[in-house]
Amino acid sequence: MAELRVCALYPDLMNIYADRGNMLMLQWRCAWRKIGFRLVGVGLGDELSSDEHDLFYIGGGQDRDQLLCARDLVEVKSGALHAAAERGAVVLAVCGGYQLLGHAYVLGAQEVAGVGLVDLRTVREEGPRLIGNVAIEVELDGEPGPRVLAGFENHGGRTVLGPGEQPLGRVLRGNGNDGASGQEGVRRGNVIGTYLHGPLLPKNAWFADWLIRRALGLDALEPLDDELERQAHLSARRAAGV
Ligand code: GLN
Repeated sequence: MAELRVCALYPDLMNIYADRGNMLMLQWRCAWRKIGFRLVGVGLGDELSSDEHDLFYIGGGQDRDQLLCARDLVEVKSGALHAAAERGAVVLAVCGGYQLLGHAYVLGAQEVAGVGLVDLRTVREEGPRLIGNVAIEVELDGEPGPRVLAGFENHGGRTVLGPGEQPLGRVLRGNGNDGASGQEGVRRGNVIGTYLHGPLLPKNAWFADWLIRRALGLDALEPLDDELERQAHLSARRAAGV
C-alpha cells in the first residue's frame, strides 16, 4: 500500500493560520483512498532526515517565532532539506515558512538568513500589512488547464523573487508577494511557497491532491465525492470576488 510520509517542521511555532488543517486535509484525502499516512513533527534542535519523508511542510509564524526557526533551519536542517528537494520531495511552505525558504528576511536593520531553497528575499517594510482574501491563477503540470487557488493573506513582509525564479501563480485578487508585481508565491519543481493560508488545502482540495500525487510520484488518484470541498472552494473564491 502506498504511504504518504509527511514532516511538519516546527508544528508548535509555525502554525498560526490553521496550518494543522492542511495536515488533516492531506491525512483524510489519503485515508479515503486507502493510502497510508504518517505525520512526524520536527522541532527546534531536532535532526531532520532527508529521505524519510515525501512532503515537508512549514506553516505561518509570528516574526519572533520565525526568527527562532530561521536560525535552526539554517544551522540544523539546511543540508537535509536541500537533499530532500534535490531528490524531488515536495516542500510546501506557507506565509512565514515561505519567507524562510529564501535567502533573507529583513526586519529593519536585522537581516535574518533563510534556508535558500529558492532565490527570493523578503523585506518587512513600514507600509501597512497586506491582509485580505486572495485568489491566484496557477498552471501546474498534470492539470488540464489553469486553475484557481483561493485563500487569505496576512503579512507585513514583501517578497521579491530573483530573476530565474517563477511565481506559483498570477494574482487575480489580493496582494500576493508584494502588492505590486502581480506575482504570488514561488515554485521551483516540487518546492512551493505561498502566502495563501486560512488554511490553504481545505479551501483548495484539488491542490491537496496535486501535492499528494507529486509527493508519491503518481499520475492520478481515485476521485472522491468532493461536493463539500467544492463548496468550500467556491466560498473562498467568492470571498475574494472571483
Ligand atoms: N511574520 C511574517 C510577516 O508578517 C509572516 C506572517 C505570517 O506567517 N502570517 O510578514
